[in-house]
Amino acid sequence: MAEFDVDLFVIGGGSGGVRAARIAAGHGAKVMIAEEYRMGGTCVIRGCVPKKLLVYASHIQHEIADAAGFGWTIPQASFDWPTLIANKDREIARLEAAYTTNVEKSGARVVKTRAVFEGPHTLRLATGETVTAKYVLIATGGAPNHGVEIPGIEHVISSNEVFDLPQLPRRIVIQGGGYIALEFACIFAGFGSDVTLIYRGDNILRGFDEDVRAHVRTEMEKNGITILTGCTVGRIGRHGDEFTTHLSNGSSIASDQVMFAIGRHPAVANLGLETTGVAINPKNGGIAVDSFSRTSVPSIYAIGDVTHRTNLTPVAIREGHAFADTVFGQRTVEVDHSHIPTAVFSQPEVGTVGLTETEARAQFSIVDIYKTNFRPIKATMSGRDTRVLMKLVVDGTTDRVLGCHIVGDGAAEMIQLIGIAVKMKVTKADFDGTMAVHPTAAEELVTMRTVTARHVREAAE
Ligand code: FAD
Ligand code: NDP
Repeated sequence: MAEFDVDLFVIGGGSGGVRAARIAAGHGAKVMIAEEYRMGGTCVIRGCVPKKLLVYASHIQHEIADAAGFGWTIPQASFDWPTLIANKDREIARLEAAYTTNVEKSGARVVKTRAVFEGPHTLRLATGETVTAKYVLIATGGAPNHGVEIPGIEHVISSNEVFDLPQLPRRIVIQGGGYIALEFACIFAGFGSDVTLIYRGDNILRGFDEDVRAHVRTEMEKNGITILTGCTVGRIGRHGDEFTTHLSNGSSIASDQVMFAIGRHPAVANLGLETTGVAINPKNGGIAVDSFSRTSVPSIYAIGDVTHRTNLTPVAIREGHAFADTVFGQRTVEVDHSHIPTAVFSQPEVGTVGLTETEARAQFSIVDIYKTNFRPIKATMSGRDTRVLMKLVVDGTTDRVLGCHIVGDGAAEMIQLIGIAVKMKVTKADFDGTMAVHPTAAEELVTMRTVTARHVREAAE
């Protein structure tokens, strides 16, 4: 008789868990995967995918507005939120079913229930069943933070609820200055909502390149979004269907919805971790892991957002795949977390990879900046008041490109490809030697010849 019921038990059917289950089953392991909500996880059900569908829907407003300059007369356009949400729901249901089918096709067994630990090798399912496993993979993801317990917090929605609102808010207040806040501020602005973004610091997108932060803010403001910095939400009152958001600076704003997008926390609560000895990383509250996603308990691994390393879908997928290859595929794979390209699907988009100018100047003695800020060709006819930012951060000693930062339509697509080059240690000379594709916005990246700034670090006394 086998010592354990299964070789691998995966907790969480999201991006990382699904990949790990499928690959491990492909390597011949007997796999069970538990999902308490919907297969596909955050990314598919209430994250990247529905978000991108809403971005497309919202961006159509820009296309309509731009059309007149190209000779089009478009009769008064109208938008129906319930139609969009119903169509989005249909697509998400299709994807959810496809995820389940693909996992099952790999040979893994899907159990649609919550699973918690009863020991390092034992899981209890909400169905009452107990399963023993040689290895357990924690892939439970994360959940939105609600922040401090302020009066009226019960009126606040998060990214979990925003995808299913019964109607489009005519006015919305969004607190946060990161990915989700910016993406939804732009989505709602595109649908014609009156959007106010509240951010506690001096400028949005902390951690991104300073030029990117300034540029995105300007572009969002040009699109009619009000951005209030240096303040927080202190209290929210409700009067019928209207909310009043009271800010720390003494002002207040009336709206139909209030959304917080103030970060996410790893889903470690009530998992029965205390029965296992799995250690939590005191720095970020996620499960502590090494570069092979091993926890402090030899039979237990953790991947994706629950480890709070880099909370992005492709990273969770890569970690899940590497885990399965290492433990079941007789192939030791370590995930390289350096040079992860990323995009914020604001309108316009942000695409970034590698070091910011500030980070580069702290690490390298000579840093050259190549920067351009231009009106995209389409805007010359559409009349849209928008500009594109492109910036290369270069090691002045070796000519290596340390970072690339783009704000403009198509930035996400561009940065995926630039990411390959930066990962391969591309030099500025390689950029210069690459023929331009004309007429594109991306050609500016290979035609910036003049250093806009050179920063030489003073030698330490
Ligand atoms: P998840 O996908 O969160 O999956 C975890 C799963 O575990 C969930 O389905 C949950 O129900 C389940 N679960 C939890 N506990 C249990 C339990 N005890 N038993 C059974 N099941 C359990 N990333 C990008 O790269 N690009 C984007 O554009 C992007 N957009 C995003 C937009 C939004 C609004 C949000 C919220 C996130 C976005 N992300 C994006 C981040 C991305 O969604 C996550 O990084 C990714 O989903 C993490 O995958 P995961 O497998 O770690 O966890
Ligand atoms: P982010 O970490 O991107 O941003 C959180 C924002 O909330 C920051 O501006 C932060 O301010 C602010 N904040 C944090 N705590 C408080 C508080 N108590 N009061 C007021 N403001 C606060 O988180 P998101 O929620 O936007 O997204 C979560 C993660 O999901 C992202 O980090 C990313 O990893 C992933 N994601 C990726 C996307 C993509 O790839 N396109 C899209 C959406 C999400 P401060 O900067 O001052 O700390």
